[in-house]
Amino acid sequence: MITRRRAFLQENIIIAASEAQSHRDARVPSTWQQQLTHAIRDPQILCERLGLSRDWLAVARIGHDLFDVCVPEAYLTRIAHADINDPLLRQVMPLGDEALTPQGYVVDPLEEADHRPAKGLIHKYAGRVLLIASPNCAINCRYCFRRHFPYSDNSPSRAQWQEALDYLRSDTTLHEAILSGGDPLAANDRQLAWLVEQLESIAHLKRLRIHTRLPVVIPDRVDDALLGWLTSTRLQTVVVLHINHANEIDQAVVDACARLKRAGATLLNQSVLLRGINDDVATLAALSERLFEAAILPYYLHVLDPVQGAAHFDVPDDEARDLVAALRDHLPGFLMPRLVREIPGKGSKTPL
Ligand code: SF4
Repeated sequence: MITRRRAFLQENIIIAASEAQSHRDARVPSTWQQQLTHAIRDPQILCERLGLSRDWLAVARIGHDLFDVCVPEAYLTRIAHADINDPLLRQVMPLGDEALTPQGYVVDPLEEADHRPAKGLIHKYAGRVLLIASPNCAINCRYCFRRHFPYSDNSPSRAQWQEALDYLRSDTTLHEAILSGGDPLAANDRQLAWLVEQLESIAHLKRLRIHTRLPVVIPDRVDDALLGWLTSTRLQTVVVLHINHANEIDQAVVDACARLKRAGATLLNQSVLLRGINDDVATLAALSERLFEAAILPYYLHVLDPVQGAAHFDVPDDEARDLVAALRDHLPGFLMPRLVREIPGKGSKTPL
């Protein structure tokens, strides 16, 4: 298995370099790290670049004060100019509605604070654990259920990872480690390669799952260094992407996914059902079709977790059920995402 994967790597590196070059916009700095550094983090620049009026800047500042804006250039290029309703802009544009505090919307909607047996480790479900491999993201999604997560208390150094790794070593019922964050791929590859090496030395672990949005928002993140550790691990790899709208998948994303596939990863997608972004049948059908064109299988469609600051994105469960029932008339079964809600304390996601 390892030999076959290494052979793929050589081919991957050559193809990755030429694909990344051919899709690079002249405005986009060359490496993913530079793109991350130069991401837009000022609401005024976001509004100016997208031709939005000063009225929008005023409300954007309210949301930005609660949760910083962050939009990388490669994502910005997919947003329509001067259209406040653009479905990609809606995901990243801070708004005054984020200051509302309706009942039931809280800072830790999944009660993750109750499931942290070691720094950087969350253990909610049997057989698998989640590691906060990076406190950072390449984009700040306004509906994020971890927008209030205490990352400063959960960003272990190498020495501090030992407690979490000891926990994994001692529990032989664990078969899967999930790298999460933030976005785990916001960490550098030296750190990730080290962490994966530690995980693969634990004999009872079989799978490495990576929950990430980075190959979508900065496709150049799928570079030689990442493919190096991903290809050489003995663990079976699953990359769960996070895409909510077909417009997020441009050719650079398709190419990044092809590189991940050639490295041996299974590609799945989870979406969040979001008011005004993807809450209609045609949009959800187009998303599934486009995902499959990028070699990604739809996995979950989550209803919104009730996180403070995101209530304006909510779609009630009954409406979500009706939408998904109607979606079945438009898609083959293998392109249907499972509609789920995460309920704190339950042993798995709850199908709706
Ligand atoms: S990339 Fe993921 S973790 Fe980061 S803000 Fe978006 S949804 Fe949240």
